[in-house]
Amino acid sequence: MKGYAMLKIGESAWIEKERPKCGPLDAICRPLAVAICTSDVHTLWEGAIGDRHNMILGHECCAEVVEVGELVKDFQPGDRVLVPAITPDWNSLEAQAGYSMHSGGMLAGWKFSNFKDGVFSDYFHVNDADGNLALLPENINVVDACMLSDMVPTGFHGVELADVQFGDTVLVIGIGPVGLMSVAGANMRGAARIIAVGSRPVCVEAARKYGATDFVNYKNGPIFQQVLDMTDGKGVDKVIIAGGGVETFAEAVKCLKPGGKIGNVNYLGSGDNIDIPRVEWGVGMGHKQINGGLMPGGRLRMEKLGALVSAGKLDVSPLCTHVFEGWEHLEKALFLMRDKPRDLIKPIVKIAD
Ligand code: NAD
Ligand code: ZN
Repeated sequence: MKGYAMLKIGESAWIEKERPKCGPLDAICRPLAVAICTSDVHTLWEGAIGDRHNMILGHECCAEVVEVGELVKDFQPGDRVLVPAITPDWNSLEAQAGYSMHSGGMLAGWKFSNFKDGVFSDYFHVNDADGNLALLPENINVVDACMLSDMVPTGFHGVELADVQFGDTVLVIGIGPVGLMSVAGANMRGAARIIAVGSRPVCVEAARKYGATDFVNYKNGPIFQQVLDMTDGKGVDKVIIAGGGVETFAEAVKCLKPGGKIGNVNYLGSGDNIDIPRVEWGVGMGHKQINGGLMPGGRLRMEKLGALVSAGKLDVSPLCTHVFEGWEHLEKALFLMRDKPRDLIKPIVKIAD
């Protein structure tokens, strides 16, 4: 089979590999559509998780099951499925402790394009099929379905990590596709005011649709000054970080009210340390919490988020700005994600209907 692989840091190409083998609890799937993630960019060009050789990239797709192991109960060949980017080992101790995304070690629930071949391939392997796959609802098309692999669950996890409550004022730093889903999730959780930090008009427009009430352009000066100005010096209850670099944490701490919470889902691809400003952190006593996490994967979450889209409560189509047909466009789509033209939110490659 062919797959689009990272050959080493900064180099990628189509390669030939053997089709993966199906264990008793596993499934082998073929993608119906795949999406490119900023994380693929961090991995390939920044080497953010270390060097990888001939590893097939990609962790966002929806797919058709082509083979299942003899112990798989709920899926069969021909099923069309949602596939989470994070596919934990559900019998691990980390999963029992409530952190399935770290099953087997830090971030080890993130297997596709990290510890094993990803989904930019004719076929790919899913561990624990019953625990990780979900049936694709009939009224969700294959392009929108890709947004459920990672963008919706990650953006929503930022909302959970920041613990957004009814009536909160929430700041969302970074309104690419993940941050946009944080805006949508904060809105669903009842935030009264949502301040979106971004610069590209396409993202600002989408953020407005998803419920952002105020906008800050980080290119117009420090975020905290603009946010304090628009909140009468009080700051915000919660901050979700979904863009920028290590420097955004200091900004977030400065924007927070005492007792506030930060939920970071940004993948910090470079920089060694995160600075926490001593004074604005209440000289160590400000009750300002900083949480950061990898999205939870698994079937239950996929089913629930799929139900939101299927019921018409969440429209992910505004994220899908660049849709291509056929594997031959994959490389172009990947390079688009790296170069981020002004009209891009998310590139998707459709393989079959
Ligand atoms: P993206 O690059 O499309 O969006 C981030 C946006 O932040 C960009 O539009 C960028 O212009 C903007 N930005 C840059 N500097 C900024 C600053 N100082 N302040 C505010 N905005 C700034 O990325 P995305 O696809 O939306 O993903 C966001 C992050 O989440 C990425 O780092 C990605 O790797 C990561 N991610 C994490 C998980 C997880 O499970 N935690 C899953 C998927 C993606
Ligand atoms: Zn992703």
